[in-house]
Amino acid sequence: MKHILKCLSCSNYTMQEKCPSCGGDAVNPKPAKYSPEDAYSDYRRKAKKETMLKKGLL
Ligand SMILES: [Zn+2]
Repeated sequence: MKHILKCLSCSNYTMQEKCPSCGGDAVNPKPAKYSPEDAYSDYRRKAKKETMLKKGLL
């Protein structure tokens, strides 16, 4: 399966890891902040805060 990649240098969209226009590196343009790992760590932070509230530490 091929992915659309975006050039870091000139923002050109390409299927190749090297941009055909400028030779720069092309990467997956999808933002990383929606990764499952981030969501899980956010959940753990909330769980920890609730635990501290129950103990009267906040
Ligand atoms: Zn480029």
